[in-house]
Amino acid sequence: MSGFDVEAVRAQFPALAQEAHPGKPLVYLDSAATALKPRAVIDAVTSVYAQDCANVHRAVHVLSQRATARFEGARDRVMRWLGAAEREEIVFTRGATEAINLVAASWGGANLQPGDEILITELEHHSNIVPWQLVAARTGAKVVVAPITDEGEVTLEAFTARLSERTKLVAFAHVSNSLGTVLPVATMIRRAHEVGAVALVDGAQGVVHARVDVRALDADFYVFSGHKLYGPSGIGVLYGKRALLEAMPPWQGGGDMIDRVTFEGSTWNDLPYKFEAGTPAIAQAIGLGAAIEWLEGLDLDAVLAHEAELLAYGTERLSALPGLTLVGRARKKSSVLAFLLEGIHPTDAGTILDAEGVAIRTGHHCTQPVMDHFGVTGTARASLALYNTKADLDALVRGLEKVRSFFG
Ligand code: PMP
Repeated sequence: MSGFDVEAVRAQFPALAQEAHPGKPLVYLDSAATALKPRAVIDAVTSVYAQDCANVHRAVHVLSQRATARFEGARDRVMRWLGAAEREEIVFTRGATEAINLVAASWGGANLQPGDEILITELEHHSNIVPWQLVAARTGAKVVVAPITDEGEVTLEAFTARLSERTKLVAFAHVSNSLGTVLPVATMIRRAHEVGAVALVDGAQGVVHARVDVRALDADFYVFSGHKLYGPSGIGVLYGKRALLEAMPPWQGGGDMIDRVTFEGSTWNDLPYKFEAGTPAIAQAIGLGAAIEWLEGLDLDAVLAHEAELLAYGTERLSALPGLTLVGRARKKSSVLAFLLEGIHPTDAGTILDAEGVAIRTGHHCTQPVMDHFGVTGTARASLALYNTKADLDALVRGLEKVRSFFG
């Protein structure tokens, strides 16, 4: 696989060096849930607590200055990674979920009226459904859903047909976590803008498996989580265009987000701090910065080519297994192999695979409407990251053959 030495990369992930069970080396195929962390990230987080353990923005002492420089440096790295124009447009949150809730509560609360529509798609993660339902209930707006096809695609026709002058906001995934579908986000954003709607992209999976340029996409909001991008959990990002963020009210009150506080009333800090109340996740943000720095050291084209080759190989091998049906056959797909096994519950398959050292995810993957579409309660899902190999997929296939023989 040209330009990409997967074994050298794997050596940087301590978690990969372990056995899942005695005699069963770990085969990790659950990176869509959370990615393993390279040594560079683990070391960065450790060094925050070992050397630069201080609160940020508040003190003149050297530890606080170092912690602040590293924390704000992480923001700069995120800005560059997303292709954002200004560091003020990068708000740290707890994750993609919190970033969507922030936009729903703040932008939605200020801008939605009875009769307005929020357009999402059928393949959204619960975190890109429920916050919109909550704000719709509060404002009298309505959530409208663009359906998926049986291949798991969102067609431009289905999406565009549900856009109208009533649509005030559209929100959709860049890449589906349960189907692997890559959505035509640039065109969807353009179509949304044509009716005057604001567009939010849930990039929790997209930022990991595609090059993202929020300015080229013209996304109004783009959100993601650090833990899926080889960084720590507890940190995520809301990118928002400055003009939108400027006009939005704060959503949480507390330290750091204020300019002046009196009992008569308070005024707000500048962006991005207006949306960062309280002590932030300092080590986690620095760890995310380290993850991006580590990724920047790789040949991203070669990484994406490696992942595409793995997906094609996995698709071919799984398709050849009798009684296995792939769920999600979009023409543009990334990193997810979800499937059903005839007559075998996904949880049983997952349990037997675990005994073989193969970690996959089973269940609804926080996308119950997708499961409803296919008339199932759950699927088995193997998901890929840059450290996976064809040998991992061979191990999955061997494990699935065991599952099949167990059920006779
Ligand atoms: N959207 C998608 C597409 C996801 O895959 C996930 C995580 N599974 C989320 C949103 C939510 O991310 P988090 O739980 O890290 O906030």
